Amino acid sequence: MQEPGAIGLGLLPLPETERRHVLVIGAGLVGLSSALWLQKAGHRVTLVDREPPLGNASFEQACSYGNACTVAPHSVVPVATPGVAWRVPGMLLNPLGPLAIVWRYLPHLSPWLRAFLASSGTAEVERIATVLSNLLAQSDAAWRPLIDESGAQALERRDGCLYLYKTEAQFQAAEAEASFRERHGVALDRLDKAAIRDLEPNLAPLYQRGVLFRDAYTFSSPRLLAFALAEAIVRRGGTFVGGEASGLEATETGIRVWVAGGELHAAHAVVAGGAWSRALARKIGDDVLLDTERGYHVLFPAAGALLKRPVCYPEHGFYMTPMADGLRAAGTVELGGLKAPPNRGRTAMIRNGVQTLLPAAGEGTREWLGFRPSMPDSLPVVGNSPTSPNMTYAFGHGHLGLTLAGITGLLVVDLISKRKPAIDLSPLRPDRFSRFGGRR
Ligand SMILES: Cc1cc2nc3c(=O)[nH]c(=O)nc-3n(C[C@H](O)[C@H](O)[C@H](O)COP(=O)(O)OP(=O)(O)OC[C@H]3O[C@@H](n4cnc5c(N)ncnc54)[C@H](O)[C@@H]3O)c2cc1C
Repeated sequence: MQEPGAIGLGLLPLPETERRHVLVIGAGLVGLSSALWLQKAGHRVTLVDREPPLGNASFEQACSYGNACTVAPHSVVPVATPGVAWRVPGMLLNPLGPLAIVWRYLPHLSPWLRAFLASSGTAEVERIATVLSNLLAQSDAAWRPLIDESGAQALERRDGCLYLYKTEAQFQAAEAEASFRERHGVALDRLDKAAIRDLEPNLAPLYQRGVLFRDAYTFSSPRLLAFALAEAIVRRGGTFVGGEASGLEATETGIRVWVAGGELHAAHAVVAGGAWSRALARKIGDDVLLDTERGYHVLFPAAGALLKRPVCYPEHGFYMTPMADGLRAAGTVELGGLKAPPNRGRTAMIRNGVQTLLPAAGEGTREWLGFRPSMPDSLPVVGNSPTSPNMTYAFGHGHLGLTLAGITGLLVVDLISKRKPAIDLSPLRPDRFSRFGGRR
C-alpha cells in the first residue's frame, strides 16, 4: 500500500485564492468522500441528496448502504472478461444466475451491452486491470485521513477476504485468474481444506481449496461509515440540503442546481449521484454510458459471529460478510435498470445458499435491492464534463464504490483545484464510450 505522501496529500490545503464553493450532488460514499477531501483542500461544500445520511435517515436508497462492506484491493478483474459473449444467452435464460439480464430491459441495455462486450477482449481486460490496480493501490492510503477525521476506526476489521472452491477442478480453473491478480499486485495465499477450516470453523465443509486476499478489510456498517463522514463534513462547516436535484444549468460563473423548490449556485459542482448520475449529466447536456448492475442483500441477524471475514464462493456470486447487524449475504448482478421491481427469487436463492454454506446462520430477515452505478468497462468515471468546465463527474464505481471512494475524492480535488492528478485520468473520462451512442 502506498503512503499518503505519494498521492499528493502534501499539497493540501490550497492557498486562499484557489478555494471555491462546490456543490456535491449525491451523498453516498463517493459524494461524501469527495466533499470531505474538498474541505481538507480548503474548498467550501454544500451537499444535495434526497435523503442525506444525518439524524434518523435510513439511507437505504443509496447503494452505499447495502453493499458487502469490503474494501477489496484484489478486485482487479473487470466484470467483462474474455468469453463473456458466450455467456449472454445463459444470462438471458437464467434470471437467477449470478449474472443475469432482465429480458424486457434488453432493448434499453443494448448500447451498454455492446460496449461491455467490446471491453471483454484480452488486451482490453489487461489494460483495464492495470488502471484498476493503479487506483486500488492507493485506495487504502486515500481512505486513512477520512477514517481518522470521522472517527470511524472502530468500524474497521482487517482479516482479509476468502474465496472458496468446492472442487479441486474449480480451484484449478480459477488459477489463471489468481495468477492474473498476482501479476497485478494482489497479495494472496492459496489454502487447503485444513487451513480454511482453521480460519472459518463454522462453514459447512463443502470446500476443497480457497484463496485468502490478505489486504482486504471490512467496515462493520457502511451506513455508520456514511453517517460518520457526514458528521465530519458538518463539523468543518459543510451543509446538507435534502431533496431531489431536479435541474442543473451551467452559468457564466458556475453551476445552478434546482432542489427542494429553491435554487443553489456555486462556482463548481460535482455529480456523485451513483446510478442516477446519467440522468443528472443529461440535464447539462452530457450523455454518459452509465447503467446499473442491480444487486441484493439478505441479513441474517443471528449469524454475525459465525464468520471472521467476508467469504465468497464465486459460483454463488455473493459475499457473506460479518457486520454490526449480523451476517450480510450480498451480491449477484442483474442487468435490469432502475425501475423493475425486486426479484424475490433472487433473494430466495441467496437465503438457500447461505443456509447450505453456513448451516447455523438461522433465518434471513431483511432484504434489500440496490443499484450499482456501472460503466461497461468496470472503471469509474472521474473527470470533468466535456461540455461544462465547472462540472466534475465522480460516479460509475460498480462493484468498487466503497473501496475507491477515498481515492476518488482525492482525484476530484485535483480536478477542481486544477492540479495534475496523481493518476492518469484519461481512461476514466466520461465520454469514453461516445462511439456506442446510447441516448434513449
Ligand atoms: C450487493 C452489493 C454489494 C456490493 N459490495 C461492495 C463491496 O463489498 N465493496 C465495494 O467497494 N463496493 C461494493 N458495492 C458497490 C458500492 O456499494 C457502490 O459502488 C457504491 O455504493 C456507489 O456509491 P455512490 O456514492 O456512487 O452511489 P450511492 O451510494 O448510490 O449514492 C448516490 C446518492 O445520490 C443521491 N442522488 C442521486 N440522484 C439524485 C438527485 N437527482 N437528487 C438528489 N440526490 C440524488 C442518491 O439518493 C444517493 O444517496 C456493492 C454493491 C452492491 C449492490
